Amino acid sequence: MLLIGLTGGIATGKSTASQHLTNSTPPIPIIDADLIARQVITPHRPAYYSLVRHFGLQIINPETLEIDRAKLGAIVFSGDDVDGRQRKVLNGITHPDIRAEMLHCALKCFLRGERMCVLDTPLLFEAGLWKVVNVVMVVYCSEQAQLARLTARDSLTPTDAKSRIASQMPIDEKRQRADILIDNSSATPDDMRAQLDAAAKAFGQGGGQGS
Ligand code: ADP
Repeated sequence: MLLIGLTGGIATGKSTASQHLTNSTPPIPIIDADLIARQVITPHRPAYYSLVRHFGLQIINPETLEIDRAKLGAIVFSGDDVDGRQRKVLNGITHPDIRAEMLHCALKCFLRGERMCVLDTPLLFEAGLWKVVNVVMVVYCSEQAQLARLTARDSLTPTDAKSRIASQMPIDEKRQRADILIDNSSATPDDMRAQLDAAAKAFGQGGGQGS
């Protein structure tokens, strides 16, 4: 089974790309790191307790007892987080669980007899998952497009959006480490979809829209 690592910068178009791959014929299985990142911090999972121990009860929604991701995000992306120390603690607690769960899902794809599957993760390099994939695919776009899409999608101010972009590995570094580059700078995702179809075809899997 071919294991593809799909990554990029925040709001460069990873989810749009993985949605296209999952809708292609035949569908390509996607393992979504953002979804798994939410699952590993649900109440009573080991990472939940580690996060509450470190960040305190302030990160919990008192009604649901779930971790309030907006509150956690405000702590780790705040200007007070000198040298990104709190973000490193958060990553140190959650990344091992996210990694393990993603690999578990990949193993299930292999056992089902899939020809390929895609690990969709913004932190392919940061979380060390690039070491286990066969192919690294990087979705990138121009800086202006990234900023515009991020501010629009997440209703962020340009300053907050810039700080989130700056907290990630620079997109140029990711581009240099890519086996396959997908350019999503066009004003619509159609151009990117054609590049994805070509890549899927090259890997011997479909390469067209199913629905
Ligand atoms: P990521 O998963 O990398 O964070 P998304 O796929 O969510 O990024 O894309 C970010 C936002 O930009 C979304 O609102 C998406 O609909 C939009 N978008 C993606 N590609 C394009 C494109 N080529 N042109 C215009 N908007 C786009």
